Amino acid sequence: MFRMLKVAEAQLQIISHVRVLNSMRLPLIDSLLMILSEEVRSDIDMPPFDNSAIDGFAVRSFDTLDASISSPTKLRITGESHAGSPCETDVVEGTAIRIMTGAPIPNNADACIMVEDIQMFDEGHILVSKSALPGHHLRRSGEDVRKGDVVLNPGQAIGSAEMAMLAATGTKAPSVYRKPSVAVVSTGDEVVDIDMTGIPPYGSIRNSNIYALAALVQESCAELHSMNHIPDDLNQTEQLFERLSAAGEADVIVSAGGVSMGDRDFIKPALEKLGKLEFWKVAMKPGKPLAFGKIESTLIFCLPGNPVSAMVTFELFVRPALRRLSGRNLDDLFRMTLYGTASCEIAHIPGREEYIRAFTTTTSDSGLSSQPTGQQGSGILSSMIGANSYIVLDEKSEGVHKGERIKIMMLN
Ligand code: AMP
Ligand code: MG
Repeated sequence: MFRMLKVAEAQLQIISHVRVLNSMRLPLIDSLLMILSEEVRSDIDMPPFDNSAIDGFAVRSFDTLDASISSPTKLRITGESHAGSPCETDVVEGTAIRIMTGAPIPNNADACIMVEDIQMFDEGHILVSKSALPGHHLRRSGEDVRKGDVVLNPGQAIGSAEMAMLAATGTKAPSVYRKPSVAVVSTGDEVVDIDMTGIPPYGSIRNSNIYALAALVQESCAELHSMNHIPDDLNQTEQLFERLSAAGEADVIVSAGGVSMGDRDFIKPALEKLGKLEFWKVAMKPGKPLAFGKIESTLIFCLPGNPVSAMVTFELFVRPALRRLSGRNLDDLFRMTLYGTASCEIAHIPGREEYIRAFTTTTSDSGLSSQPTGQQGSGILSSMIGANSYIVLDEKSEGVHKGERIKIMMLN
């Protein structure tokens, strides 16, 4: 017999079974959205040399001490420093060097003056009308990163900023974890493929789950191994599970449907025969029947068939597992949970934790307010559209009134 677990218990149990996949080196541009498996240190100071933050003139700040609009200081221009072609001339007393953003600071200069603070005098001179303090408009070598500093850590996802930092440190092929390969499976004699022309016959239903699962897998930055459909048949279920969990195939199988108490629900028996079922039911709404187990090293998530139940349980149980397999740290697996207020009354019967699809916005006082997006039945797909969050009501809740504090799980 399996005890019905709370959501958090089931999540912990799942994560305890997940091992991060192996790592490999990829060309930098191909590593986007993958997870670093090793720390990265900088091989240089950043910026690598003192340079100008502006287009203007490099000066000795001391020479400009007395400069003002009524009594400007005259300096002789002795050269130009451009990004990519530094000036060889030193700045000596009474001189300035024309300098562009990113160009190296010439010797002896310790400040730059913006064009706006200068009156051009003639071809070879400037009149400085504002004094410059030492370091003014300079970007010092190493002010961003010092040579040898750790700039990125294992477990960090490579986004645009991380990719820029990897490029800046000359990391041509970062070491990243392999993405999990995930096979998705829909079940049901009544389910028809979208390739079928015309309106599905009475009693049948288009296969939306297989697309929802395939999309969720890819949104979780995992690889889609294959999309499979099986009728309600024990043999075919076993054969498919066996094939998908064979060595070199999927790291994870996610199925939807056929996991309840119905006479034609064969997912659980197939998993029990081929591998090990770890738990079966979770006290949540939508989504109660949900089996998790393993066949050899392949993780098996058997989600309920109702379209919304499948998506909510994927979000709560499969996505964190895929993130862990991909190499994310334990504190980076779950969605951010915030607090806000309910924008209307929400009913709830105590017993199970409930996830209510909702649209959350910021309020004028910088708080958050959440509004359910429509009917909340587990087959009501239309209220998933436009939902950016779930309002989470715990199992003891007797519902909330308008304006009451609520827990909100953000989806983006
Ligand atoms: P089950 O969990 O198999 O009992 O399915 C629960 C409900 O979800 C039933 O109404 C099914 O028709 C529906 N359903 C199951 N699989 C799919 C699917 N792939 N696409 C759309 N609806 C489905
Ligand atoms: Mg079914």
